[in-house]
Amino acid sequence: MLYEISEKIMRLESEGKKIIKFNLGDPDQPTPNEIIEAAFEAMKQGKTKYSSSAGEKKLREELARAHKVSAENVVVTTGSKWAIFSVMYLLLKSGDNVVIPTPYWTAYELTAKSLGVEPRFLRTEVGSNWKIDIEKLKGLIDRRTRLLILNNPNNPTSKVIDEKVLAEIVQIANDEGITILSDEVYSDISFVEVKNILDFDGSHILVKSFSKTFAMTGWRVGYVIAEKELAEKMVKLNQITLTNVPVFVQQAALKALELKEEIANKIRDEYRRRADLACSILSKTKMKFSRPDAPFYVFPGYDGLNSESFALNLLDKGVAIAPGTAFGDHREHFRIALTLSEEEIELGLKKICEALK
Ligand code: PMP
Repeated sequence: MLYEISEKIMRLESEGKKIIKFNLGDPDQPTPNEIIEAAFEAMKQGKTKYSSSAGEKKLREELARAHKVSAENVVVTTGSKWAIFSVMYLLLKSGDNVVIPTPYWTAYELTAKSLGVEPRFLRTEVGSNWKIDIEKLKGLIDRRTRLLILNNPNNPTSKVIDEKVLAEIVQIANDEGITILSDEVYSDISFVEVKNILDFDGSHILVKSFSKTFAMTGWRVGYVIAEKELAEKMVKLNQITLTNVPVFVQQAALKALELKEEIANKIRDEYRRRADLACSILSKTKMKFSRPDAPFYVFPGYDGLNSESFALNLLDKGVAIAPGTAFGDHREHFRIALTLSEEEIELGLKKICEALK
């Protein structure tokens, strides 16, 4: 469906139509100049060769320091997407199952299926603020459950898991011998505090990215923090696949970490303004939505809506959204990404409201 939408966008744009693109989770801000300069400097210094498949020592050490682990627990990856794929590839085998709360970021399901692993969906609902139901979670677990994927804050709902609920989830995982893969790529720009999975007992896995915090989606740099044994396996997988994240990109990532507070604050403030604007418009409608705790998304729903046909028809009115079915069985919902200017958000939402009448 997302493919069909992109095709239609391309066709309409080639006909000269302007589309307000609420469908992309790619920040509209440019990568900060200091980060670009750091990459350029590194290239000029000859950092253009093959290098370590674990990541550059200095970057791993900085990340280790930030997360209070040892550098041998850190593996630098080509975006967090590769980190997620690698963890699932290494931990799961055909016949296993993985628990994934819905709505979810599509790659988890597609990766599980590509490995012959059964995705077991733990449905959450807007009515309960997308809260994970502990009893439902228990009911999904059996002896072939190997992994639980948490996305905190969540794409597409932008909700952060309540600390008490998270503690209960971790307790269950620890009791059942299940590993948690916690995808926290939006946590550093969250509007509310996010409790890190590494703050809990158990050998769980954290995945993070430079993409969202620093507007660096195209640079392809992320990382994983895992127990030494798994980290070593990931390095071996990197050796036979991507070799290494370009060293000049890692040098840029190091600069990004240095400027993290300043950059993250700016991005967070910008998205908070956009989220406030979107919520104030949505709250005047009959749409059901939950206020985002983090950038970049809002996931409104409308009773009886078929978000797939709605998304396709809306394109003719110049607005692109992602239907809820792209994130699990959530047909009445759709995702809007606030990766647009306030003017575009206002205009786009106005058109959405009119189309729903
Ligand atoms: N996790 C989530 C929840 C995402 O939304 C995305 C990107 N949309 C990623 C991981 C992957 O990001 P990247 O590979 O750029 O780090």
